[in-house]
Amino acid sequence: YYHDNTIIYLNGTFVKAAEATTDYYSQSLHYGYAVFEGIRSYKTTNGETKIFKAKEHYDRLKNSAVALNMPYSWDTDELIEATYEVLAKNNLQNAYIRPVVYAPANMSFNPNNESYIMIAAWEMGLFLGEKLLRVMTSSFQRPNPKGFRIEAKASGHYVNSILASQEAKAKGFDEALLTDMNDYVAEGPGANVFFEKNGKLVTPPTGNILPGITRATVMEICAEMNIPVEERLFTTDELKQADAAFFCGTAAEVIGWQSLDEALFPKNWNDTLGRKIQLAYKERVTEATMIQTK
Ligand code: PMP
Repeated sequence: YYHDNTIIYLNGTFVKAAEATTDYYSQSLHYGYAVFEGIRSYKTTNGETKIFKAKEHYDRLKNSAVALNMPYSWDTDELIEATYEVLAKNNLQNAYIRPVVYAPANMSFNPNNESYIMIAAWEMGLFLGEKLLRVMTSSFQRPNPKGFRIEAKASGHYVNSILASQEAKAKGFDEALLTDMNDYVAEGPGANVFFEKNGKLVTPPTGNILPGITRATVMEICAEMNIPVEERLFTTDELKQADAAFFCGTAAEVIGWQSLDEALFPKNWNDTLGRKIQLAYKERVTEATMIQTK
């Protein structure tokens, strides 16, 4: 889906992805020392293209870079403008957008004087599909926040995501669920998690997870719909007693679960709070006028 004709934004210019080059001595390639974002754009109800929560994503990109001591001199508004140009040059409206901030050639662990940026975009379906998921508790835990900047969206963290996701798929499941270093539920390899019990939603607090922008949007929707949400730690045992559960993320949007470790969730997905939120999310991302809630 990212074919050779794609135009990417590369350090201030637009180039064909197939003709773009990078340095094989980049610290990013060798050590996973890079940060990135996953953003979506949508065709709104009036036909325009809208990047959903563009500012929130580029602000997080900057925070991620700063957390890793990477120089970051770009202006969010400039990057948003460049992103709209990438979409236009590739004739995209409904797209997945992938900015990456990466390091120059450097085989040491020393800091750099500059960083580079590239922004790619392509058409992509829902990351976890549209069917209810059979989820497996991973044998891999999320990185310990005492060893990583877990709040940063750092490329190196995704080795953990890949291991967990591959393990789950090899065992015939759709996706993994990872716990934190204390065996509390943390998140999926690329999505945050919520469960429903007795008319309330529960989600893990920030600290051991990526602070998801979709997670924040779900909580905004809940506030508007008067759905109570609790942020607290819980175990997979408690999660298996839930009425329903779902993952949420930019790439996955909102997607319900059928089961965790083969234990089925009793509530019909169409009757769950997650389903209500899934529909409200769809509406919000394609809304013609951006309602800035914060
Ligand atoms: N957790 C992880 C590990 C992720 O990779 C993602 C996707 N960026 C999320 C949660 C969801 O974050 P967001 O809603 O900002 O896409």
